[in-house]
Amino acid sequence: MNALVATSRNFKQAAKLLGLDSKLEKSLLIPFREIKVECTIPKDDGTLASFVGFRVQHDNARGPMKGGIRYHHEVDPDEVNALAQLMTWKTAVANIPYGGAKGGIGCSPGELSSSELERLTRVFTQKIHDLIGIHTDVPAPDMGTNPQTMAWILDEYSKFHGYSPAVVTGKPVDLGGSLGREAATGRGVLFATEALLAEYGKSIKDQRFVIQGFGNVGSWAAKLINEAGGKVVAISDVTGAVKNSKGLDIEKVLKHSMENRGIRGFSGGESIDPSSLLTEDCDVLIPAALGGVINRENANHIRAKFIIEAANHPADPEADEILSKKGVVILPDIYANSGGVTVSYFEWVQNIQGFMWDEEKVNAELKTYMTRGFKDVKEMCKTHNCDLRMGAFTLGVNRVARATVLRGWEA
Ligand code: GLU
Repeated sequence: MNALVATSRNFKQAAKLLGLDSKLEKSLLIPFREIKVECTIPKDDGTLASFVGFRVQHDNARGPMKGGIRYHHEVDPDEVNALAQLMTWKTAVANIPYGGAKGGIGCSPGELSSSELERLTRVFTQKIHDLIGIHTDVPAPDMGTNPQTMAWILDEYSKFHGYSPAVVTGKPVDLGGSLGREAATGRGVLFATEALLAEYGKSIKDQRFVIQGFGNVGSWAAKLINEAGGKVVAISDVTGAVKNSKGLDIEKVLKHSMENRGIRGFSGGESIDPSSLLTEDCDVLIPAALGGVINRENANHIRAKFIIEAANHPADPEADEILSKKGVVILPDIYANSGGVTVSYFEWVQNIQGFMWDEEKVNAELKTYMTRGFKDVKEMCKTHNCDLRMGAFTLGVNRVARATVLRGWEA
């Protein structure tokens, strides 16, 4: 199912549960601004290459718009729109003073050299620098981008506006990035999983995990879950998948993946077909890669009891229905992966304060936000007699709707 159709369907269901005014509902769905720019760069061989860049600024009722920039060949306007909308609800669920945005460039970052990526990032920044800013829209890393990408954006933006570290988050620590930001989404996934399992009288230690994706989010989630005593029995990335029912040695997987640019060929487990990973036997399934991977085709075959959505929109509404009938509990993306943007907020606060927190404080604050977020979501589940996805959506949408009305909405 198209990402925007799926996300909007969840939004509309939440709006119905909340009894939102229909005009307000329509206005909340339409993005504040959609930017599409052409980015042409000289490649290393001297030829020119053109790419299309997007930034969708979805809503700013609760504060500056916030969200990552993705470099991936599948980036398209609907996907970016859906992801921007999800950021609006996510920042509201986390209760941080931001709206939502998302950006991306349709490209294959693995096929571009570092200097080509730098030129592309600088050209993209030149095209959007007037529309982002500390109090308007604050980008961050996402799939295919990293702290270095943020450093280039910061540098290019600063040529026009003066040195402004708070214009991006997820920066290198040497440029004002926050300690703990790199691990934050994975650490948030750990805290979210702990909160959910505790509801069922379970703990990380007695669960078997399958993780799809071994990028920033998946690898940190795997490492931290493993350190907390959880057994990771299968894992995949773009190069392949590996399983070991006794539990994978995550430190060794990390080492192998660094040395070989992927987990393919890892000898501490049996290599399996990545397409069968999601249906492997486990207690907790953590999709931490692309959207739409859990759908009506595979939902019935999923064997996990819990799904923690570390990726954005990994399950579409049709899969939700099938899984809920099977009694599978899904912890939704807009809560489960909010650790990244939460520590982005801490980074922005530190930049504005001009005061750096130590990592212990960052992690402790993150735990407070994640624990409180879970309680808030559960509260909405009780109020609206709904599942966790609708609990999170009603929580986020309600906060944004309230801010919109307070700022002067007339029905
Ligand atoms: N890209 C991350 C997300 O999808 C982080 C966004 C941010 O830190 O602004 O939540």
